[in-house]
Amino acid sequence: MVQKNLIDGEWIAGSEAFRNINPSDTNDVVGEYARASAEDARAAIAAAKAAFPAWSRSGILERHAILRKTADEILARKDELGKLLSREEGKTLAEGIGETVRAGQIFDFFAGECLRLAGEVLPSARPNIGVEITREPIGVVGIITPWNFPIAIPAWKIAPALCYGNTVVFKPAELVPGSSWAIVDILHRAGLPKGVLNLVMGKGSVVGQAMLDSPDIHAITFTGSTGTGKRVALASVEHNRKYQLEMGGKNPFVVLDDADLAVAVEAAVNSAFFSTGQRCTASSRLIVTEGIHDRFVAAMGERMKGLVIDDALKAGTQIGPVVDESQLNQDTDYIAIGRQEGAKLAFGGELLKRDTPGFYLQPALFTEATNAMRISREEIFGPVASVIRVKDYDEALIVANDTPFGLSSGIATTSLKHATHFKRNADAGMVMVNLPTAGVDFHVPFGGRKGSSHGSREQGRYAAEFYTTVKTAYTLA
Ligand code: NDP
Repeated sequence: MVQKNLIDGEWIAGSEAFRNINPSDTNDVVGEYARASAEDARAAIAAAKAAFPAWSRSGILERHAILRKTADEILARKDELGKLLSREEGKTLAEGIGETVRAGQIFDFFAGECLRLAGEVLPSARPNIGVEITREPIGVVGIITPWNFPIAIPAWKIAPALCYGNTVVFKPAELVPGSSWAIVDILHRAGLPKGVLNLVMGKGSVVGQAMLDSPDIHAITFTGSTGTGKRVALASVEHNRKYQLEMGGKNPFVVLDDADLAVAVEAAVNSAFFSTGQRCTASSRLIVTEGIHDRFVAAMGERMKGLVIDDALKAGTQIGPVVDESQLNQDTDYIAIGRQEGAKLAFGGELLKRDTPGFYLQPALFTEATNAMRISREEIFGPVASVIRVKDYDEALIVANDTPFGLSSGIATTSLKHATHFKRNADAGMVMVNLPTAGVDFHVPFGGRKGSSHGSREQGRYAAEFYTTVKTAYTLA
């Protein structure tokens, strides 16, 4: 059965369909999904525009009930939805279920936010005049998401968009339509009026582009690559619309001489290789001071030897496959580039055979890397990390910040002085002390600076900045 797009409250088949393939076993077809056309995208935008006046004035209890019901169903079905996620994306079952729980928590959080909408009442600078400051929805929000967090990223964009009274046109990544279809189905059955949330699965170059080109989309929130992010920005400037971008990272993880070695290795392995290194918050630059360097590299090698790389759904798998062939080629190309640049491949990097045909890669660790190398500057987005040796903390901080990106930054140290200084001086939106660079909470701001992000933060109460516009009203008493 082909899973359809949702346009104006109707499930629409369209003229084409595409297959969702399991990267752990390319013989396994997860499902077939309708491919929307540019015409479908325009119909979805028109439906969202028509639905906006009523939804933007809907009561907070109606919105609360729908978001709450959605959260409850996602959490009740976490094992099934987590399995679907792992099957289509390739992260381990534990990671798939964990991400699904996070999506449920996000809907739960924004169900609560509906009940906490508030404004301000201030005296005017002039006598006998009152001033009210309120937040209003923006209008039609376009949501474009990447493949690496198939349920959490859609959740952290759709939930606040609806909570604050916007209507939505949602285009998930074509590689992973299953989780997106599932949450749209849940929201639809939870009672969303027709046209409030529209799903258009299909190609970015067609469906996404039709969204960018539409004057009827008032805001676009995008997560994905830097290149596509730039297109979103240019088109948004053209249409004078609000936009928010979350793009790549080249996140540093600093290990100082005084670090607890076990803590440092655990955090580095998690940062670099968990979720197959396919996280925008992954660390691929391990910046290590010379006093601990050799011990750290040896311990990393030992820990990496023990990693179980296999089918994402198998019990005991710690690292699943790469998401598809083109991403696998990108990873192996960068491994070749690292070697050509003179870094030493200390561990891993080879393709692996498993029981089923899939995109299995042994996580790779380079040593003797410099921060000028392409492997240290460009986002690889796979299980490939390099160790950059530095003299001391001061040099480590300079190297950590010497990147065009600024999403996440980590440090392993037992020194309060260095931890405190790093938190203040790391040029990144998120800083982690003795923790992996990835792995963030659902209720606090997420985002970066420099080439990683543009616009206000996602998640938590900070999401209101993007999904609302502020009105200042004056009344003569
Ligand atoms: P892409 O930028 O290729 O795709 C992201 C989304 O944009 C997809 O839905 C894609 O559609 C769509 N798209 C592609 N072309 C256009 C277009 N012309 N107009 C509108 N939409 C378009 O990135 P990936 O999904 O391949 O994700 C990997 C990249 O994303 C990595 O570089 C990673 O760093 C970054 N990323 C950043 C995150 C962050 O929070 N900072 C989080 C996750 C990923 P289609 O389905 O056709 O590909």
